[in-house]
Amino acid sequence: MQGKAVSEGIAIGILTIYRKRRQHMQDLEYRGSVAEISRFALARSNTRRDLENLRLKASMEENETNVALLGSYMVMLDDPAFIGTVERRITNKHMPAELAVISARDKIYSLFKGMDDEYMKARAEDIQDISDRVLDNLAENKRLPDEYESDVILLAEDLTPSDTMQLDRDRILGFVTRRGSGLSHTAIIARSMNIPAAVALDYPKDCEGKLAILDGYSGELIIDPSEEVLKHYRDRKAEIEKRAEALNELRMQPSVTANGKHIGLLANVGSVEDVKKAIEFGCEGIGLFRTELFYLDRDDYPTEEEQYDTYVECVRALEGRELVIRTIDIGADKQEAYMQMKHEDNPAMGMRAVRYCLGHKDVFRTQLRAIYRAAVHGRVSILLPMIISIEEIWQVRSIMNEVRADLEREGREFGDCRFGVMIETPAAAMISDLLANEVDFFSIGTNDLTQYTLAVDRQNTELDFICDYHHQAILRFLQMIINNGHNGGCSVCVCGELAADTSFTGELLKMGVDELSVAPGSLLRVKQAIRGTSL
Ligand code: PEP
Ligand code: MG
Repeated sequence: MQGKAVSEGIAIGILTIYRKRRQHMQDLEYRGSVAEISRFALARSNTRRDLENLRLKASMEENETNVALLGSYMVMLDDPAFIGTVERRITNKHMPAELAVISARDKIYSLFKGMDDEYMKARAEDIQDISDRVLDNLAENKRLPDEYESDVILLAEDLTPSDTMQLDRDRILGFVTRRGSGLSHTAIIARSMNIPAAVALDYPKDCEGKLAILDGYSGELIIDPSEEVLKHYRDRKAEIEKRAEALNELRMQPSVTANGKHIGLLANVGSVEDVKKAIEFGCEGIGLFRTELFYLDRDDYPTEEEQYDTYVECVRALEGRELVIRTIDIGADKQEAYMQMKHEDNPAMGMRAVRYCLGHKDVFRTQLRAIYRAAVHGRVSILLPMIISIEEIWQVRSIMNEVRADLEREGREFGDCRFGVMIETPAAAMISDLLANEVDFFSIGTNDLTQYTLAVDRQNTELDFICDYHHQAILRFLQMIINNGHNGGCSVCVCGELAADTSFTGELLKMGVDELSVAPGSLLRVKQAIRGTSL
């Protein structure tokens, strides 16, 4: 079966369907009405997205009955009577969202069942189905990795970034999702974990338990392979491992072009483990620490001390190399119920990243305090995501000044940090000459820059075919940003996925980029490409 390859490697294992496990009802705790209503809203919004995708698929298959049915499901999901019944149970009866949904479901079910009209009677089953979907989306207690009896290739409708982060690398050899795209954070995390993965692959329902081969280079999933095919892939796997060993020799070689120009080769990470892996692969520093991943899969914001401990552990492991900490890029696909984010029709263009931080100054201040305190122990830089204006930089600077003044007043030690911005919106690219006067360095986020420049949702499987990372518009932006950065005295790094595209390394270096920041598993491949480029 053909999907889209998003993370390289070959996996041979037993197919297992990923299921979020619903929590035992007696273990549920009530987290307060605001939190529970917000969890319910997020689960409804995810259910709506599921239904929209199913409807799109049914419509492509010209299955008019299902298109109509799913349409009516979506109306029911937004029905004020359903929502009101659930919310009243949360507020008045202090029920956790799950129990409130079950109780509302049972009430509406018996109401419909008791009607004379046959059509209305049949709707009772629909409300059952919708409630089950909402309950699935409310489920947070993930299937534990040790529940897998053997090494598996995981199959899922979709995986969130926080689902992906929890995958046990020892048991889970690869994964396949029906939804998703190459630039989704799920795919990015898979690459950073070195797990082969394919997305947009419509695997059959009845394949669970079968042996399969996942080819993370071509995006193919081969179910029930013959002995001959198995042998072919086992040989290929061995060959790839041999080549990886050969690449290993590059670990201690400098990252310089064939004619001797040094190019900073840095790593993109999301955890202390990633930092350690990146050091093993010979990185010169961390170019992008996606700190928001640290805020996922938990019930509350991490405290200042927790963050401080994590940053210090990274700084110490880096032994003098630089750590670029990106302040939280929360929002869009990276959010948890405790953040109580409102439903947004267009979250990629919504309350995320620096906008979220400026709207939640306490959360932002806590992170900045941890960063400045960690900077006592090594070289730490601060990188701001999703910048669109100079005013945002001024606002952030003023908060930074307050934070440092507070630390000073409290007699706490803090260090100095270089200050940079992500250039990942067309607005930032267009004013990059002005931004260069405000900051020390640029880091170009080609993932978002591509999404916003081409107006192509990076999560949308359907649009992958026009998501052209080498589009002329992107190339022009890149050259412009690099020139403007250099004219203003800024170093320029590329930290989007384009930095790991070795077919494009030569182009990037010729444009004048100073540094590349890539997933730990891509460091050696990219170093090989740098060393093979002559400027
Ligand atoms: C980018 O947008 O290119 C980037 C590096 O940030 P993220 O992928 O985390 O949005
Ligand atoms: Mg980005």
